[in-house]
Amino acid sequence: MKGKIIVTGGCGYIGSHTVVSLIEDGYEVVVFDNLSNSKELILDRIREITGIRPTFEKIDLADESQAKEAYRKHSNTDAIINFAAYKAVGESVKEPIMYYRNNMFSLLNTLQGQIDNNIKNIIFSSSATVYGEPDSLPITEKNETKRPFSPYGNTKKVAEEILEDLTKVNSGFSAISLRYFNPIGAHGSGLIGEFPSGVPNNLLPYVTQCAAGVLDELKVFGNDYPTKDGTPIRDYIHVVDLAEAHVIAVNRLLNDKNKSNFEVFNLGTGIGYTVLDVIDTFESVTGINLNYSMAERRDGDVAVLYAATDLARDELGWEARYGLKDMISSAWKWEQDLRTSLNRL
Ligand code: NAD
Ligand code: UDP
Repeated sequence: MKGKIIVTGGCGYIGSHTVVSLIEDGYEVVVFDNLSNSKELILDRIREITGIRPTFEKIDLADESQAKEAYRKHSNTDAIINFAAYKAVGESVKEPIMYYRNNMFSLLNTLQGQIDNNIKNIIFSSSATVYGEPDSLPITEKNETKRPFSPYGNTKKVAEEILEDLTKVNSGFSAISLRYFNPIGAHGSGLIGEFPSGVPNNLLPYVTQCAAGVLDELKVFGNDYPTKDGTPIRDYIHVVDLAEAHVIAVNRLLNDKNKSNFEVFNLGTGIGYTVLDVIDTFESVTGINLNYSMAERRDGDVAVLYAATDLARDELGWEARYGLKDMISSAWKWEQDLRTSLNRL
């Protein structure tokens, strides 16, 4: 084994793919999750893919005593990857305290667990939302961060500031914050993928659920943006590429290759697609005509976001391997397999 990694939120969408990549790279993995937005069954799926079922601790990281006990139990850990958080933007606007409580307490209890047990390394799940409406494109890590529109987004910005403050006073402690652009897609096996609870907020699960007949119609939120077809541009990134970037970031910290003890990297492809590009690609990849119509803009949506990928390429040696067609076909395979297995239950 290369080392022991705690993955908080490891039963979730990005966490489960990262657990697979960590196991495939030779790490021992322990998952901390309260299953608030995931199912324990995912751990059996991970075993089907890798042959190994990671150790699991069902705990609420926002609860100080549960977190303290779990970190004490796994004190011989080399690094933590912190995915555990609530992530629904709209819900966070309606329930800000719930979001600040869960996301900030979970992070603070994790950082305290690190300090108490001398766990030196942490990778944090951040988001392009910290850039707000960008002043220039593509967005580099030097772009100014701005107060995000939503409480959810603000939990990411404040979390990064906390990590920066902590690494300033504690030189033995290193953090890498990974700012994801728009993660989509699923593992090629069709065994793990995104499983949103309730009606999805994000474009791709909405598209695949419409195509599967679970939802009736996709609304395209605004076609009067300053883009080629009037719909917003995003940088969609395959979740398997993201997972691999986390393994590279862990290797970087464990091999002392980081240039400072708080580093930030964008994770995107550098290519922007409009909502209509995504719909067209879905239709051509699957041969299914989507039922969609134009609707009002959604509050808080930015016109154009895409990443500068130079820093991740030069420093991490990481570049996205998959294109939009791969992302969409894997998401569609996952949706179909999921519907078949749900029908069987
Ligand atoms: P997800 O909801 O699928 O996974 C999060 C996991 O954390 C779930 O399994 C959930 O049960 C767990 N969790 C939540 N609160 C917890 C708590 N208090 N204690 C223990 N476990 C808890 O979400 P995801 O899409 O995999 O996102 C993972 C991380 O990446 C999150 O921090 C999210 O904010 C961030 N992120 C996601 C996206 C995206 O589009 N999916 C984009 C940018 C950043
Ligand atoms: N979008 C849409 N209809 C939907 C969901 C999303 O038109 O039902 C658009 C949204 O306005 C944005 C893009 O799809 O331009 C990506 O949205 P998503 O919520 O997936 O990610 P975001 O970039 O907002 O984090």
